[in-house]
Amino acid sequence: MIPIEIPPNTIMLKGISWDSNVYLVRDGNEALIIDTGTGTYWNRYVEAWKRGGYLENLERVIIFNTHEHFDHVGGNSMMKRWLERKRVEVLFSAHEKTAETLENQNDYVILSFYYGRRYEPVKFDFKLRDNDTLKIGSLKLELIHTPGHTAGSSCLYEPKEKLLFTGDTVFKGTVGRTDLPTGSHLKIIESIKKLESLDVYLALPGHGGVIKNWRENLRGIKKMLGL
Ligand SMILES: [Zn+2]
Repeated sequence: MIPIEIPPNTIMLKGISWDSNVYLVRDGNEALIIDTGTGTYWNRYVEAWKRGGYLENLERVIIFNTHEHFDHVGGNSMMKRWLERKRVEVLFSAHEKTAETLENQNDYVILSFYYGRRYEPVKFDFKLRDNDTLKIGSLKLELIHTPGHTAGSSCLYEPKEKLLFTGDTVFKGTVGRTDLPTGSHLKIIESIKKLESLDVYLALPGHGGVIKNWRENLRGIKKMLGL
């Protein structure tokens, strides 16, 4: 597992097998983890962070889930337990719809059955709405609610470096599927339009590689969607 460093604050770990990508954003003694994979390989991600020294002097972590799906949230409880054993405070955050689905262990929406496991619920400390912000050290990340792939799907925007964490809303050349529980083709079209006004240097999706040319990528997606 080789971490991809996106200076100055962000570490990308490519998801193993079906896992989502797992991101770490570090500033001072605080860090943000974006998505945790299925939980099958959580210790590989943690090992990669440890080896790279990215967890040194860490005091507080917010784990943010981009949406409800098991391949993005299955590692939540494992990472929480591991970090708490290292005396790191762990808080959870997501859009309020995602948080509600996960707290209620709604396995139908979470898609746990695809993975032959049940989701182990954690308590959500920050249930966010559109335009709410998360503070990590001196960084402020803005939540942009982008329903369509699921009802609670959201992107996180870091305006200093112009990074956009897109979850399963935008990939390289395509969008997330909309035929799963709470998905909506019409809503993902609205969400894509909403993202158009953002100034994005790098988009960091839930699966696959980084998106370097945001405008061109969106143009291709709009063409594909017939917009
Ligand atoms: Zn998904």
